[in-house]
Amino acid sequence: MPDFSRRDFLKIGGLTLLGLAANPWIPHAEDQQPNFTAPLVWHGSRKYKRLAFTYDDCYLLYRMRTLEELLDQYPEFKVTFFPVGAKVINLDEQDPGIWKRLTAKGHEIGYHSFDHVNLGVMSRAGVLADYDKWYAALTQVLGGEYPVRFVRPPYDIISPALDILCQERGLVAALFSVGGGGEPEVVFNAIQKAQGGDIVQMHIRTDDYNSSVLAFPWLQENNWELVTMSQLYDDYLRNEINPPACDVNAGNNLTRTCLE
Ligand SMILES: [Zn+2]
Repeated sequence: MPDFSRRDFLKIGGLTLLGLAANPWIPHAEDQQPNFTAPLVWHGSRKYKRLAFTYDDCYLLYRMRTLEELLDQYPEFKVTFFPVGAKVINLDEQDPGIWKRLTAKGHEIGYHSFDHVNLGVMSRAGVLADYDKWYAALTQVLGGEYPVRFVRPPYDIISPALDILCQERGLVAALFSVGGGGEPEVVFNAIQKAQGGDIVQMHIRTDDYNSSVLAFPWLQENNWELVTMSQLYDDYLRNEINPPACDVNAGNNLTRTCLE
């Protein structure tokens, strides 16, 4: 698995460089990546008409509730939340069971630090302790263990501390290929030009909620699937293991590994 993860990262790094010239929404962080060895994704497989909408921070209960109501109108749409730990607890105090409800509806939760600090300024021990504190908050509100797979680093900063965290806690760094945060019409326009496998970064705030209100009906009408980061990443891994020429159920193949 470690070998596979490294290959995965190198492959995605190459794709990112290709994407940078064509897509102004991709953050220009390529020069921060060379020493990063843990899995890091900017987008998933281009083979599927699927997008991962991700919502960071999760500061505002009101906007969380309105987004939940919007998502309830599109039960097939699944998204990923990257809340800070302080808000994991705080929102659950204001609306008991909110995180349990969202995960029961098939949405995913990933790590975004406890207090929205730049992981890059933390020590090795500090970043692990911050993750463990965030995870303790999550398991407290969910009432049990939860399989956290992704980290969205605060301020989208790729750092050695992020690398250590991913390696030590088995996480995948989830960046993005389409950014929200602007005028809803502009963001909606960018979403209409999205490619399969794009990771869309939103925040729980009014502009991004309004962008979602504009985008969801259009995405549904145009047969887009909204999937969790886990599904997007699993699609990508499956596609890497089964390249187009892979002969599944065709006997032993000594040069590549094929899964079903
Ligand atoms: Zn953030």
